[in-house]
Amino acid sequence: MRYSQTLIPTTREVPSDAEIPSHQLMIRAGLIRKIASGMYAYLPAGMKSLRKIEEIVREEMNRAGGCETLMPSVHPRELWVQTGRDEDYGETMARFQDRHGRWNVLSPTAEEVYAYIGSNEISSYKQLPINMYQISFKFRDEFRPRFGVLRSREFLMKDGYSYHASPECLHKTYMQMYEAYKQIFERCGVPYVILEAEAGEMGGSGSHQFTVPCESGEDVIVYTEDGSYAANIEKAAIDPAEAVDEKITDAPEEVHTPNAGSIEAVCEMLGTKPEQMIKTLIHSDREGRIIIAVVRGDHELNEEKLSQLLGGEKTEMASEEQIKEFTGASVGFAGPQGLCEKAHQVFIDYSAAAMSGGAAGANKDDFHVKNIVPGRDFPLESENVQTADIRNAVEGDTHNGKKLLFRKGIEVGQVFKLGTKYSTKLECEFLDENGKRKPCLMGCYGIGLNRIMASAIETNYDESGIKWPISIAPFEAVIVPIGKKDEAEAGERLYSELKDMGVDVLLDDRNARPGVKLNDADLLGVPVRITVGRKSLAEGNVEMKLRSESENSLIKLEEAAGKTAEIVKKLKDGTQ
Ligand code: ATP
Ligand code: MG
Repeated sequence: MRYSQTLIPTTREVPSDAEIPSHQLMIRAGLIRKIASGMYAYLPAGMKSLRKIEEIVREEMNRAGGCETLMPSVHPRELWVQTGRDEDYGETMARFQDRHGRWNVLSPTAEEVYAYIGSNEISSYKQLPINMYQISFKFRDEFRPRFGVLRSREFLMKDGYSYHASPECLHKTYMQMYEAYKQIFERCGVPYVILEAEAGEMGGSGSHQFTVPCESGEDVIVYTEDGSYAANIEKAAIDPAEAVDEKITDAPEEVHTPNAGSIEAVCEMLGTKPEQMIKTLIHSDREGRIIIAVVRGDHELNEEKLSQLLGGEKTEMASEEQIKEFTGASVGFAGPQGLCEKAHQVFIDYSAAAMSGGAAGANKDDFHVKNIVPGRDFPLESENVQTADIRNAVEGDTHNGKKLLFRKGIEVGQVFKLGTKYSTKLECEFLDENGKRKPCLMGCYGIGLNRIMASAIETNYDESGIKWPISIAPFEAVIVPIGKKDEAEAGERLYSELKDMGVDVLLDDRNARPGVKLNDADLLGVPVRITVGRKSLAEGNVEMKLRSESENSLIKLEEAAGKTAEIVKKLKDGTQ
């Protein structure tokens, strides 16, 4: 590609919403431009990199037995109503009515459509397993699009779906996809960790998340130092807390806490610490039944863990009216005493159960109660009460006795054993050997292509710009002629030689100052740079510089193409 004939609009101007390095560098290097909030245009250099990622993903999927397909990106809303996800996806899914008044959705993912295909096309166990995937745009009206293409509204996803007659068969394909994902991230040159993740309705070890450890990530990686355990924050299981102190014997005592409906406000008023507070969260399930979660004041409820305990059912914070009706008080004044018996189900976190006692809401406006003792003033175990792990892990927690550590990361891919959730609801069924009708077991496997690109940059850059892994770099080599005559001519020759040798090369044939060209080559992050300068050319040499190294080396002009092709090959093999 010739720089003069393409559009790589490098710039020093970084918009104020570009908070993280990859976002800033993608704009500065002219890879992308913002069209609207969470919507980006890929310009030629950005597109080349995205295509290379896509090709790696496609090759690895095909190698692992996946078959490429393409579903429409507009789906009938009806399918989503049937699985209940029309409701679950909420405002994140965009919906519109067509000219005939039919409702459609913009696909945020495609389990429904694949289950629908299966329901029509699969009839016998003899057809199974099937493993299909697509690479297509997805739309999610993210609440907070940010970090450029890391969390955008429209993005390119590879999503795969598999259909099986037995759990063993599902497991086999799941592991093949798991291995293929490792290959993909290795080939793309992004560092990653594999985390245990929440599996939805299957439970157990049914999901893994592939995450790039990195400061600007929005996910939390929870791990043990010896590497024996790594999970995302939604999943990370905590050892039950031991009760350290004796339970207090003082009687409960009501205290006036006017307008103090938050933990901080109550603590200030009572002179206590958040860890001495008992937080009572009133949730409601789909049917409007009350679910109570009790955690220590300094802990956060983990809704995934709660949902798992409810067999995959999602709950949400009860409305102000529901809370008022159930507790007799406004939001912020609930306490477990007297409420547990009335609730549909109650979950007490291990750490809250282990407290010697603490302050809780009084179920009365503007009042709290001190000296509430778990097990004495509210039950820890009964027909509808259970003590369990329902909170997010924090510093100091352990897993199997080992200290849990935390770091941030970017989720780039996730694999799931879906089980029969979608196949049951959409009747994606098969007849088994005995002629018995059964729902297919399904797996699903997603990867964000734009996210891979941004996380590759996020983990490979310096003050001069991007340092691409060569496999996904927009160009493998760049030729920078400095001078208009002999230098330009030598540059042209080298360019055509390298193209003939199959090197993906950019010729910077712009009429620009040397400093500009050299800076742009670094900013764009091309792994190999050949500079054709007047002084070295007079001696029959050109300069070669790797983006990953600070030193130049001189090579003979006539050997330049061969040597460049060789180094490109070595970089690709990982031998350089
Ligand atoms: P997140 O928790 O970050 O919102 P998710 O778990 O909802 O992501 P999945 O449904 O698992 O995402 O989608 C599969 C992959 O698609 C993700 O691993 C990620 O790489 C990519 N992806 C999801 N949402 C976005 C987005 N808004 N922008 C870019 N890529 C995304
Ligand atoms: Mg995910």
